[in-house]
Amino acid sequence: MASTEYRDTHAGGLRREDAGTVVRLAGWAERIRDQGGVVFVDLRDASGIVQVVFRPDVAPEATDAAHELKREYCVRVEGTVQERPEGTANPELATGRVEVEARTVEVLSTADTLPFHLDERTEVEEGRRLKYRYLDLRRPRMTANLLARSQAVGAMRRVMEERGFLEVETPTLIASTPEGARDFLVPSRLRPGQFYALPQSPQLFKQLLMIGGVERYYQIARCYRDEDFRADRQVEFTQLDFEGAFWGQDDVLATLEEISVAVTKAVRGIDLPRPFPRLTYAEALARYGTDKPDIRFGMEIVDLGGVFAATEFQAFATALAAGGAVRGINAGARQMARSALDGLVARARELGAGGLVWLVVEADGSLRSPTTKYLSEAEQTDLVAAFGASPGDVLLLVADRTDKVAAVLGQLRLELGQPSGHEELAYLFVTDFPVFERTEGGDLVPLHHPFTSPVSVEAMRTDPDNAISKAYDLVLNGSELGSGSVRIHDPVVQAAVFEILGISPEAAARRFGWFLEALRYGTPPHAGFAIGIDRMVAILQGERNIREVIPFPKTQTGADPLTGSPSRVEDYQLSDLGIDIRPEVRQAWAEEAGEETAT
Ligand code: ASP
Repeated sequence: MASTEYRDTHAGGLRREDAGTVVRLAGWAERIRDQGGVVFVDLRDASGIVQVVFRPDVAPEATDAAHELKREYCVRVEGTVQERPEGTANPELATGRVEVEARTVEVLSTADTLPFHLDERTEVEEGRRLKYRYLDLRRPRMTANLLARSQAVGAMRRVMEERGFLEVETPTLIASTPEGARDFLVPSRLRPGQFYALPQSPQLFKQLLMIGGVERYYQIARCYRDEDFRADRQVEFTQLDFEGAFWGQDDVLATLEEISVAVTKAVRGIDLPRPFPRLTYAEALARYGTDKPDIRFGMEIVDLGGVFAATEFQAFATALAAGGAVRGINAGARQMARSALDGLVARARELGAGGLVWLVVEADGSLRSPTTKYLSEAEQTDLVAAFGASPGDVLLLVADRTDKVAAVLGQLRLELGQPSGHEELAYLFVTDFPVFERTEGGDLVPLHHPFTSPVSVEAMRTDPDNAISKAYDLVLNGSELGSGSVRIHDPVVQAAVFEILGISPEAAARRFGWFLEALRYGTPPHAGFAIGIDRMVAILQGERNIREVIPFPKTQTGADPLTGSPSRVEDYQLSDLGIDIRPEVRQAWAEEAGEETAT
């Protein structure tokens, strides 16, 4: 490393070859052990840890000073690298074969007793970790995650720059736009009673850039969605957002592949095979029961409509007659007690199925199950054949509405087969998403966003429930990494989408008139994508939660325990904004304050 005022060497890089050299180190005293006069200090800097030894006979003054050190003091040390004595090497440390024999030590700053230990062995409750995030970040796991994140973003930028994309910033104080989630609103002081929205993504601005003649755009963009916290979401998160003019789906997917390959190489050192597999949305649902399949393992869903076309088994016959499906998975050879099999039935019910039929293939190829008595010989034989099943295999069948069958089997498949590690990486593209979906209340809403091009405008008008769009997702190990689409570039089609969504032409003109107008001035066909950087890095790092790869995340309820956001503001600030807090909210504050003083 280049010498700085404080040091000339990084702790984590010292090896046997360095023995004999005099080094100046600076970092934190991670552990201090006093062994009968000799003091050992694990000195940590961003690169790693090295053991520093203070011997009274070699450096009496420094050793006296070392006696006074406490955990996480910041120190500067000068000493000589030495090979550790025979039998004292530490194979767990990269620097474990050497130590630094100190001549001097200087305390750069002291540290209060820490609220928790920084070693990886100590489990710390997340609220505390977030309150003291600056200490949590000193832990090796977090150091590694931040490094991986930086490497990932670096690789993304390199690919984009090499391919001639322009990095363009778009505003964060914008008008509210319809992207599916609830907007965060920011009151305007200069225009009391009016609000900006924070962008859910740069979607409309990147489309304006295409109209503006920027043919290749990208941005590492912060996005804000005021969502109720579902599992593993953050109210603010980061995307690699990109868009290309005179582009179609394949251009986007080719770029995505390059980015994924580069990021995976940078973070994990793995060369991914290309091309990535592609599945249509319909295939993904039929074979894996989800639009984000984990294809690291098989256990694919098999349609048994043919096997049971003429069945007398009431549950199956009813489902099929109602236009539903009978499908199943072969959970493979596994020893399962009757109680465990019945547990799966309960689990399927919990997931929304009316029931679940389990069958075990016996050594002679026959089937064992409480249900076999309702199935004909031929059905049983065909069933075994349909699954390609062997003795010992456990077969699980669900009969219900097709979407329910898919969802339940898709989830059971994950619970029974999903690998827990992250060694293997299975990227894939899912294409041909429907244009719309229905809310629970039956309303039509865009499955991606309303700027996504339908494959056929005609089909979208006549049969909106079944119309296919030019939208696609990137999936990794069963998680959606991001979405994109070919956009509508014709204002007439864009207006038609708003109309189908139940937005009147007047309302559309009022809210998005500016965008509909922009589309009228020679809009190039364009397409793009946004990758969720937090999720991608989390999966590559084997982290289950994206909070682990976000330096300063919010809690499940959108709060930051470190800085105390969100927080109340002074009355004069509200008054500047023309905002009154409703009496019932003030009342709730007062009650809260009362409870706090009472306890
Ligand atoms: N703006 C979209 C999103 O945030 C991505 C895209 O369509 O490019 O999901």
